[in-house]
Amino acid sequence: MNAETSRAARPADCPCGGAAPNLKATAKPPRYAACCGRFIDAGALPETALELMRSRYTAYVLGESSYLRATWARETCPPDLDVDPLALDAPRWLGLAIKRHEQVDATHAIVEFVARYKTGGRASRLHEVSRFTRAEDGRWRYVDGDVTDT
Ligand SMILES: [Zn+2]
Repeated sequence: MNAETSRAARPADCPCGGAAPNLKATAKPPRYAACCGRFIDAGALPETALELMRSRYTAYVLGESSYLRATWARETCPPDLDVDPLALDAPRWLGLAIKRHEQVDATHAIVEFVARYKTGGRASRLHEVSRFTRAEDGRWRYVDGDVTDT
């Protein structure tokens, strides 16, 4: 790790909580360095769309815009993407639950999740069915998703 790079402090426990289908709510969260930190800070490549999904949630928590861009399909990545968790109107992410992880074929997968957050003191949920593709470079990337009412 380079001490000169400025970035948000890393938590001990991983913000994603190691979310997985059928994970018990009482499950102990994994350590950040052993979970999403491998991908966000250490350059390891997620082997599944589920691992990528978790690490992208954690990147939102930490404000890692460059990681979000790098893991977003070029065709759908917003050009002005900038996540600042310290901004006044930024959502405060409270937790991630994975409802479904479906490997469609070798290069396509679907992850359904619910992310809980607060904005301006109001609690909300983001329930999304996300699509992921694996490119020829072997990397999974987020394509887009359908937000469903819960
Ligand atoms: Zn994690």
